[in-house]
Amino acid sequence: MSRLSEAVWGEILVYVRNHFPGVGRGWFAQLEPGALRSGRLVVYTADEAQLTYMRKHCVQAFVEGSQAATGRLISVEFAARTTGPTQGQTWPDAHPMSDLAFERDTGLLRLNPDYIFDNFVTGACNRLAHASCVAVSQALGTAYNPLFIHGSVGLGKTHLGQAVCQEVLENSPATQLMYLSCETFVNHFIEAIEKGALDSFRYRYRHVDLLVIDDIQFLAKRERTQEEFFHTFNTLYQMQKQIILLADSPPSEIPSLEERLVSRFNWGLVARIDAPGLETRMAIIQKKMRLRGMALPEDVVLHIASRAKSNTRELEGVLTRLRGLAALEGAAPIDLALAREALGEAEAVATQTIQVQDIMSAVTERFGVRLSDLQGRRRSRSIALPRQVCMYLARQLTEHSLGEIGGFFGGRDHTTVLHAHRLIGQRRNTDVAFCSRLEEIEGSLRRN
Ligand code: ADP
Ligand code: MG
Repeated sequence: MSRLSEAVWGEILVYVRNHFPGVGRGWFAQLEPGALRSGRLVVYTADEAQLTYMRKHCVQAFVEGSQAATGRLISVEFAARTTGPTQGQTWPDAHPMSDLAFERDTGLLRLNPDYIFDNFVTGACNRLAHASCVAVSQALGTAYNPLFIHGSVGLGKTHLGQAVCQEVLENSPATQLMYLSCETFVNHFIEAIEKGALDSFRYRYRHVDLLVIDDIQFLAKRERTQEEFFHTFNTLYQMQKQIILLADSPPSEIPSLEERLVSRFNWGLVARIDAPGLETRMAIIQKKMRLRGMALPEDVVLHIASRAKSNTRELEGVLTRLRGLAALEGAAPIDLALAREALGEAEAVATQTIQVQDIMSAVTERFGVRLSDLQGRRRSRSIALPRQVCMYLARQLTEHSLGEIGGFFGGRDHTTVLHAHRLIGQRRNTDVAFCSRLEEIEGSLRRN
């Protein structure tokens, strides 16, 4: 057990003040840091009222602050001052500053307290990945080593990786673990080379019980870092230390990943996460809403689950907006209408990634014209209409300015684009067949 140094405590307060300006209170000066034991920091308040406030509003701020100031994974608890240290006492240094400074540079990712096993919904799509993570957290280095989890974005890889860390810390707080993005690993390595500090780099990465590297596909094409990681891997593996790798594709599909790494990544267990089916999506929505202290009617859950399909992060975006909308309208009941509104925004966000190229190829395909026609000067009707459709869609679905859009389609100016936009908009409102043709094109673009 040890106490935090005053300097570090000061940094925590500064962090909280800068990053959570809304929660700060004048009486924060009365707070006192207590014991730092097994990654848990106790902060003492002067009285019960402060304690209630801290517990309600400040947990996240102080967790982040402590982690930022120390570079360690620290959870924070608040307690009213009864046995805490008294004001004015000097704190013995828990960790020499040099050590802390090194840790802080490492830019370790912070663990999100919501990313625990209890909050993870399982279904056919992720059962193996989930079960293997649970198994690994209970038997580091022996259950499956390495454990390689892959799946596309937003399907819960990071959530699972962090859940392992939090479970391990909960059960055996003294475990030395590192959770970091591959990018951080790469940056540390480059920095270590520049500073001639490879020894301490190696020492650091090779003396952990559990190493979790997120987005390991980032190693693609980085030959020197791959070489270094190869040795890190071997050392840890030989000592039966647990390695968990998270990626967006299986080992063999990471571009130009050395063969010896591909084969090592396959030594243990490789588990894929697929996109969740409807029922799992519904269960995730319910879980997330409960976490936010809200309940949703069944029909709203179904509606959202059947519309927001691509990944869970998108689902969460919808839920966040939904909550915002409900709050905005004075705690309005969450019904289908509100859900539609939240989803509408989601669609608008999703459209930002549509490219003019996509629009052109969708239109050429359906109107039987050539790309060169769309971008050329010809004005015949058979070409003018698809060109106008392109301009209309580009205006609706991309962020380009009128001038840019005009430029794409044969160097026309912005008034031509405005004219096309108005014309197609009017026809859309009056010609049912034309309208459904447009909707079909828009649908295909959104699915891409
Ligand atoms: P990835 O790392 O695969 O891109 P994340 O782990 O960041 O995905 O997940 C994105 C969001 O979706 C997170 O908020 C996570 O909690 C949530 N999520 C993904 N899958 C699940 C699941 N099966 N149960 C609960 N939440 C999930
Ligand atoms: Mg991730």
